[in-house]
This record gives sequence, structure tokens and C-alpha cells, in this order.
Amino acid sequence: MNPRARIACLAADAARWGTTRLLHRGGGNAPGAVALRLDPGIIGALGDALERSVVVTGTNGKTTTTGLAADALGSRGERVVCNRAGNNMESGIAAALVGARSERPRVGCFECDELYTVRVLPRLRPRALVLLNLFRDQLDRYGEIDHTQDVIAEALRRSPQTAIAYNADDPLCASIAARVDNAGVPFGIDEPTGLEADRISDSRFCAKCNAPLDYEYVHYGQLGKYRCPKCGWRRPELAFAAVNVSLTCGGYEFDVEDRRGEKPVRHHVTTRYNGLYMVYNVMAALVACVLGGGSVSRFQEVLDAYEPASGRGKTYQLDGGYSVVSNLAKNPTGFNRMIAQVRAEDGHYVALFLNDNDADGHDVSWIWDIDLERLHDLSDLRCVFVGGTRREDMAVRVKYAELGAPIELIDGVEDALRFVGAGERLHVIANYTAFPPVVAELGRLEQSWHAPALTVTSEAVSMVEHAAPTPVALDRPLRIVHLYPDALNLYGDGGNIASLSKRCEWRGIPCRVDQVLMGQELDLSDADVVLLGGGADRDQLAVCHELQGQREKLAAYVEAGGVLLAICGGYQLLGHYYMMGDERVEGLHVLDIETTAGATRLIGNVAIESPVCDAPIVGFENHAGRTLLGAGEKPLGRALVHGTGNNGEDGGEGVLHEGVVGTYLHGPILPKNPGVTDWLLARALRRRGVTAELPALNDDLERIAHDVAMRIATHR
Ligand code: GLN
Repeated sequence: MNPRARIACLAADAARWGTTRLLHRGGGNAPGAVALRLDPGIIGALGDALERSVVVTGTNGKTTTTGLAADALGSRGERVVCNRAGNNMESGIAAALVGARSERPRVGCFECDELYTVRVLPRLRPRALVLLNLFRDQLDRYGEIDHTQDVIAEALRRSPQTAIAYNADDPLCASIAARVDNAGVPFGIDEPTGLEADRISDSRFCAKCNAPLDYEYVHYGQLGKYRCPKCGWRRPELAFAAVNVSLTCGGYEFDVEDRRGEKPVRHHVTTRYNGLYMVYNVMAALVACVLGGGSVSRFQEVLDAYEPASGRGKTYQLDGGYSVVSNLAKNPTGFNRMIAQVRAEDGHYVALFLNDNDADGHDVSWIWDIDLERLHDLSDLRCVFVGGTRREDMAVRVKYAELGAPIELIDGVEDALRFVGAGERLHVIANYTAFPPVVAELGRLEQSWHAPALTVTSEAVSMVEHAAPTPVALDRPLRIVHLYPDALNLYGDGGNIASLSKRCEWRGIPCRVDQVLMGQELDLSDADVVLLGGGADRDQLAVCHELQGQREKLAAYVEAGGVLLAICGGYQLLGHYYMMGDERVEGLHVLDIETTAGATRLIGNVAIESPVCDAPIVGFENHAGRTLLGAGEKPLGRALVHGTGNNGEDGGEGVLHEGVVGTYLHGPILPKNPGVTDWLLARALRRRGVTAELPALNDDLERIAHDVAMRIATHR
């Protein structure tokens, strides 16, 4: 080791001693940060001493896969250095290397945050990067998924000898492998698994030509066997394939076929885990072990002995026969997987914890992309509890899912248990920073909690009630048209549809929602409300081509005073153009606005004052585009937060043009701002000859969620 690295290590040791002994904190990142400050090349210096290493990245499953792979790599007694606690930034990896150096490990197995791969890979030069999947997650930190892909591709380019073992079922991963020269090792599930497809997929378009992909089958999210009908790009041939996947009473059983040689080699695997995502994680760990030079002969043993990190998927047995299952889910796909588990067990009580701290992302709009409505299947859901710093937002989300069970705001698990029937089971799903406090509390409850003599019956728990509506007479239902939800759906746009349709339903206004998907004929002749959602640059490009042919119809609809809500990407598309660097996304020229992508993104909570409703409109913005309004256009409102809005400069946000509301606010905007929903509905009804005022609804939950968002927007 060079002298600089040696000094950095000593300083890191001191920092570790300080944080653990004096401050009584886990020394996860701090020693690494100190070491990196003194020697930015420390990962390379210590990594060079390793004989071989692998790095695991991707949105979901990193910690589990890394832990399992590390155990497998060490199954013959090799010393393996691993950042097991999940500190996955550069500093976490440096800290693990520094901390383990005296044991002289020969093998490294590291979990790495997607955006840090570009800093870690070139220094560590691992044998393989295992890429698990890419889903929307913390978009306020990552920007759009394209950016994450660019970073990972760059990391691989700067470490050319590193092979990329990737989930080929995920087109977002496969397209990275297709862009780089590194050796590729595709893995996937090579047969249909019969799962119900999720509503939101993060990739519908071909990475090569932008045409919508065809799927032979989908497992979940965008994972499946896909092919582009236009250019022929398809899921690569699998080097490792899971086959004969079957659900047993205790988990999944399958074979991983290593197809790299002449004759495939099969490894049979039995798991105690019943989520299909675990098939991917386990297979990825096996692949990591093979590529990292380990032996798979003991893989099953390792898997049997594996304890998932800190409380994930753990069942806690409490006094009085109560039990609590704790699960972590950080994004819609993760949540959907956990919801599938609650359904598999036909749960009665569910607690959802949502935080919006830095590590979670400040934007909670993704909760509207969760398929919470699937809990309708439960035979007897008795109560849904919501906790965390943004529990009010989750309460509104649950309300619009209309699960028929009361919603209870709680401070912690113990709070929820008061309402849980004697000896029953509670399913907890918590996001990133909400999870450790839940686990800590459960640990305490396991030791010292005493079951209450009486639980509060669900009748006594608050239930959102609406007065029985007086039906509104319309010659035909109000027609809500959701344009291209398969492409423009980046920030929970489904929530806007839910707000529009539920608020009609609760008032006895007949309504129907029609989705127009990419490639389908657009008919706006009897549309009453049209919605265009937000999208990533790439998706916008695909929609722009699609929309050009429909321009006249949309322009005529707007001209005739039609009601249209356009969010972010959809809003930009209504203007003349969106310039992304040199690339021009042709707009529809329906509004006199122009957008140019800036070098930075405008990201954060926003509040605006608008003539549309009394309360300020709250939401979250995340866009590169800077929009300028032409002389004849008026903004939707005035930004109450400096530096936000259309361009961060003129204080205007969105556009209000007859019946058109264009805005950068998502969140999604309508559920938390029912005044905006009602403005749109009232206007649409007026066009249909209904002039009576809309009856008031019980908006208590919306109001408290609004107030929380307002406080955050104006105080953070
Ligand atoms: N891709 C566009 C931008 O970054 C729109 C993003 C969005 O829909 N929020 O400006």
C-alpha cells in the first residue's frame, strides 16, 4: 500500500473508533468518508490487494443479493469483504475495505448505489458487475431512469475488463449491456410465471428504435420476454436461466441452468421466500458467485442459512399470539411485490409507513403508482394503518383505493396493535428510513409488550364516509380520457384519474374513464376531461411521434373549450417544442409556449397561488425543461417558493388557457388539491349544461395532506 493510502487507513480507523465508541453509532460511512478525503484512490489501493471481486447494483434487491453472494463466495472458508449493512455509496465501500484490511480478505463482494458505480468500478475493477433491475425510485435524486442508465454504462466503459451480468428480462438493463463492449452475461426467468402484470411499467419502448415493445410474457414491472416488432431487438439469449419455477408451500423452487458451455449445467434451488423477486435475487447471487470465482456446490446450504438483513421479511411473535410481519419497500415495484405477499396470506390488517427524508426521496408521488387496489381481493380487510412522516399522503392514497376498511393514522406499530383483533397478524410495509424504526420497535415489543385485554373494534375506528349522493342526470356519463398512460405516467398520474373519477362517483355523477394507449385511435368527440401525464424525455419522444398524427383532434378539442389537464412532459408537449440539447421534440402547437431543457433539473416541493381554487395548489416538480409563455398566455399561478415553476425565474407556474391546465406540479396534483379537480369537473359539467354547484365532499384527509405538503414546501 502506498503511504498516502496507509495514512488514510489510519485516519479512518480513528474515525471508526470515534463514531462507535464515543458517539455510539454504527461506523458505516464515516471512516470511509475520512479515508476518501485523504486518499480519493483508496478503493483502488485496497481493492488491488483483492484477488477478485464482484459489485451488485440495481434498484431493488441489492442488499439481499450482495449478502447472499458474499456468503456463497465465502462458503469454502475464503475471507470475503462486504458492505453488508447496506452502506452502498463510495464511502460505505471504502469503509468496508478499510475495516477488513487486517484480515487480508482475498475476495470482495460489494453492494453499490447505481449512481456511484461510476466512481467505484474504475477503481475497484471487479470481475463482474451484477445489474439486478432498474425501476423508478427516488426520482428526485436520480432524475430520470435514462440518467441512471448513462451512469452505469459510463462506469462499465471505464472498467472494460468487468463483465456485466444483467437481468436480461429487464429491457432497461439489457439496453445498457447492448451499449457497452464489456462481456455480457444475461440471466432471466425463461418461462411464463403467470403473474398479473403491474399497472405501471418503467419501460415500454425499444431502446434501439423507440417503438412499443411486444411481450410474450411479463413477470412484473417491465420484466419479461420482450421483442421489438419494428427493429427486432429482443431479450438476449440467457446465459443463466431460471426454469421449472414452482411455488411450494414454503417458498419457490427452481433450477438455474448455466447455459454457457456446450451442455447446460443445472443447479436446483429451494427457497423459503415466496416473492418471485427472490427468484431473481437468488439467481443473481448464484451468478455472482460463479463469476466471482466461488463454488456453487454449497449454494443451497448457504441459502438455507441466510438471514435477510435487519428485519426484512421477518415475522415477530408477540404476546397474546399476535404476530407482525415486517417488510421493506422503497418504490412502486417493491411495494407491489409486498402487496402480493399480503394477498397470498389474505391479510386482515396492513400498516403502511411512508417517510420523505433525504434517503427516501422528498417526492412521495410514487405511492400513486402502487397497485394498492389489488388489496380489494382480501376477503376480510379490517383496517389499514398509515404511519411515517408522510402518513397523511398515504392516507389519501388509501382513501382513493376504496378498500372498504377504516384508515387509521398511527405513530408506531404499538399504536396499530390496539386496533388489531386478538391473536391476529399485522402486515407492515415501510419505506427506507421508515423501516429501521419499525424494526427497532418490533424488537422492543417482542421483549416487553403485553397484549391488551380489549382491542378497539373496527366500528370505533374512523371511516371516511360520504353523504349518499343525489344522482346527477346526464344524457351520457362524463367521459374522462386518459391519453397514453402506457408512456406518460412518470409521477403517479393514475392518482389524477382516481381523483376525477372518485369525486364524480361520490357525488352521483355518472362517469367513465377511457384509456387511449399508444397506437390506438384517438376519439375526442365526446370527451369531457382529457389527461396527459408526465414522462421521461425518451417516453416523450415516443409520444410526440404518436401525437403528431392526432394534432388536429386535440387542437379542435382545446379550441372548443375542452377541459384538459397536462402534467410536466404532457404540458411541454402542448407547446411549440421541447429542446433536449440538439434534439427537438416537436410540440403540438396548441399553446403558445416553448420549452428548453436546462443543464440542471428543477426539483422540489412547490406551492402556487392560483385563481382556480382558494387554497394554494401544492405539489412536487422535477423537470429539466424551462418553459416560457408567449405574450397571450397566462400562468396557472404564482410560485410561493422562490426558484420554482415554469423556469425558476419569472415566478410563474404552469398555464391556464380556457379549459386547459398545464403544470409542472405532480404529486400527483389532484388528490391533494381537490379544488383543482372540482374546477375541472365543474367546467366539464358546464359544457354539458349542468350549472349547479358541485356538492361538498368530506375532504378531511385531503386537507391534512395538503397542509403537510404546504408546510414542507414553504419551510424546507
Ligand atoms: N422530461 C421532461 C423534463 O425533464 C418532463 C419531466 C416531467 O414530466 N416531469 O423536463
